[in-house]
Amino acid sequence: MACILRTPLVVANWKMNGSQHLCELFSDQLQDFPKVDIWLAPPFVYLATLKSFSRLMSVVSMGAQNVHHEHSGAFTGDVSAAMVADVGAKFAIIGHSERRTLHHENDKIVSWKLQTCKDAGIVPLICVGESLEQRQIGSAQSVVQEQLRSLSDERELIEMERVVIAYEPIWAIGTGNTASPCDAEEMHRSIRDYLGSVGCKLRILYGGSVNPDNAEELINQPNIDGFLVGGASLEPSSFNAICSAVNGN
Ligand code: PEP
Repeated sequence: MACILRTPLVVANWKMNGSQHLCELFSDQLQDFPKVDIWLAPPFVYLATLKSFSRLMSVVSMGAQNVHHEHSGAFTGDVSAAMVADVGAKFAIIGHSERRTLHHENDKIVSWKLQTCKDAGIVPLICVGESLEQRQIGSAQSVVQEQLRSLSDERELIEMERVVIAYEPIWAIGTGNTASPCDAEEMHRSIRDYLGSVGCKLRILYGGSVNPDNAEELINQPNIDGFLVGGASLEPSSFNAICSAVNGN
């Protein structure tokens, strides 16, 4: 089956880090990478700050690190997909392992979030990935397939909404232990195969301790379409270096 070309994508996930000053640094220092889509996910409170930098907004899209699975209501401290869309977010990260673990968000909740993103007209960036124990007992692929299967009722939705998937092995997030290019490629290929005809169209990102030193080897894998970057996205210089590797410079 002929596959369509997928534009590489690099996403910065600042997590609960950053400041107005960091937004300003990115505005001053983030370079333009013509062959790469670049998305920034700051904490909610800095979406408006990022939006105020027009040069930056001409080279990136901004989005949220999370949204609530309901549209509105008595959910103190939460933020809906419609709200982030209202202030200019183009995407939201859902199902990040830190949300699944620390906030007990299961696959059902992730599928509801997928729906609210669709309703709000923003792209869901869905994170999947296995724990170290699951990898060690040989169940990494079945764990990831189960996470995807729970979204399969939404298959049509996935096609319509240009969903992005991030494969993030939990043991690689924030640890400095990156998946080997070979292991990452194997999982990306299996995700694409699992998704059937839709798989060809989706961008599948790798996340887990990506840095300027390992980005080139990872992006050279045929089924890795870009990265979701945590720690190394907190400094414009390292984020520029990762984007540059993806751009092929
Ligand atoms: C992440 O939080 O999605 C992530 C991949 O973090 P890090 O790059 O720090 O491992």
